[in-house]
Amino acid sequence: MHAASPGHPPRLARQADDRLPPPLQRLLKTAQQEIDRHINDCGLCAVCGSAFPCDRAALADLALSAM
Ligand SMILES: [Zn+2]
Repeated sequence: MHAASPGHPPRLARQADDRLPPPLQRLLKTAQQEIDRHINDCGLCAVCGSAFPCDRAALADLALSAM
């Protein structure tokens, strides 16, 4: 007699969002939005106009990489 539980595929690594507390989820989302907006435009940030990566993009990148 087998007691195998049906229909329980191993959970693959999903977006880390699920396991993060809401404040961190917000931080992640904001960071992603910042990275989407602050893009490299011929060496300058398309939003700030400062040398790319600008402070905001660098900060967002740092936040994301720390997750
Ligand atoms: Zn920028």
